[in-house]
Amino acid sequence: MSVCPVCNGLAVVQKSCPQCGRMMFDAGVIQDYYDGYSAYLEQELYEDGYRCYDHEICVHLIACPSCHFDLNIAFRRLEMEELTE
Ligand SMILES: [Zn+2]
Ligand SMILES: [Zn+2]
Repeated sequence: MSVCPVCNGLAVVQKSCPQCGRMMFDAGVIQDYYDGYSAYLEQELYEDGYRCYDHEICVHLIACPSCHFDLNIAFRRLEMEELTE
């Protein structure tokens, strides 16, 4: 079983808005949105799971509270064993 660290409160999204520099917040999970999305990808999270789109990643909508800019970030799901280390 694998879980998304952000959905489970194990990681906090810290991303500043590319437009205004304010700290953005996690506005929720994007479900059923894997086809043709051109997400901004946090490459460093992906070393081993990037190309496995199906259930290896959880895509979140990250929004800016100030200028309402938003983007998608995909987080690699972690195996339960990784979480207990
Ligand atoms: Zn998630
Ligand atoms: Zn902004």
